Amino acid sequence: MERGWALLKRGLLLRCPVCGKGKLFRSLFTMYERCPVCHFVYEREEGYFSSAMAINLIITELLVAAIVIPLGVVAGTTPNFPVVPVLIMGGLLAVLLPLLFYRHSRGLWISFDHWLNPPL
Ligand SMILES: [Zn+2]
Repeated sequence: MERGWALLKRGLLLRCPVCGKGKLFRSLFTMYERCPVCHFVYEREEGYFSSAMAINLIITELLVAAIVIPLGVVAGTTPNFPVVPVLIMGGLLAVLLPLLFYRHSRGLWISFDHWLNPPL
């Protein structure tokens, strides 16, 4: 379990799951192909990070639902509630949150995958 926490920490800090020192990203949205320190190849197979997109989608949808659903309930019980701004805010969150979580969803995925399937 200690290894799992170490991998989770590396993923959240956007570090290599193998050595914990190399960075995952060279720029805001561009990953290194290999760890700059230990040269481990990050993308294990084609489409490897599609699960990261799933993590990103789940986190985004849960956060949007946690914010918009209570506001929808309040809107349904409050006369003259500003519905349009709430809808616009929900739409903006649905667009912005995946961008904000892009890097960390990849970090989380690579750490989770290395916890379940350690490299040989
Ligand atoms: Zn490394």
